[in-house]
This record gives sequence, C-alpha cells and structure tokens, in this order.
Amino acid sequence: MTMPTKIPEFIWGRKYPKIAIDLEKCTVPFLCKKCLQICPEGVFHVTRVMAKEKRLEEMDPRIDGNYTLHVTRRDKCTGCNMCIDVCPVDAIKIEIPTMERLRPDVSGEQWRSQ
Ligand code: SF4
Ligand code: SF4
Repeated sequence: MTMPTKIPEFIWGRKYPKIAIDLEKCTVPFLCKKCLQICPEGVFHVTRVMAKEKRLEEMDPRIDGNYTLHVTRRDKCTGCNMCIDVCPVDAIKIEIPTMERLRPDVSGEQWRSQ
C-alpha cells in the first residue's frame, strides 16, 4: 500500500483543508471513482488493500474493503465541493479553515521611537 505523503499543517499562512472520508460508507472506491474523476486537483487516490494472504490473488473491485480511498494531496484542495456533491453515499466531509496571518508582529523594536 502506498503511504500518503506527509503534508504540513500550514504553508504560507494558509492552513490546508481537512478532508475526512468515511470508510464505512465508501466501501468500493475502485468501482465508484466519482470523486477521483471529478476532482480538478487530483486530491484523491485509490489503492488496493494488500492483505498478506491475498497478495497474489486478483482482487475484485466489487467486494467491500478490497480497495481504499486516500486523500494524498489535500494541499491542492480548493474547497470547490464538487466531490461532496458527486459522492453517492455522502462519505466526504471537508472543513476549510480560516486564513491566519503568520507574519511577525511589526509593532516591536523597529517601530519604537528613538
Ligand atoms: S473540494 Fe474540490 S478540490 Fe477539494 S477534494 Fe473536493 S473536488 Fe477536489
Ligand atoms: S465518490 Fe464517495 S463513494 Fe465514490 S469513491 Fe469517492 S468517497 Fe467513495
């Protein structure tokens, strides 16, 4: 199984959206693929579950739990919500954080009168 890329919480003052997939609802992502197909940013990725005893078998995408959906590029998510609209089982939740100013406070030393 491909490990998802570790993504930092912040970049240039922007917090990445939090994307949660309910795997109880999204059980056959390789058959469905609706969110993968509609996402313009390629945020999602589907992989085969590599159970040891099944490693050499063909895995039927129609069987629950043989494939799993990952959020590998949440840093690319623009919050367009198209994936939420297209998901037939309402398995995707996205939380868009508010912007935060990370610049240093400029009211210190450099602005103090001499
Ligand atoms: S909200 Fe838009 S950009 Fe973000 S994961 Fe869904 S489809 Fe992709
Ligand atoms: S659209 Fe929904 S059910 Fe289909 S693969 Fe994506 S999260 Fe799973």
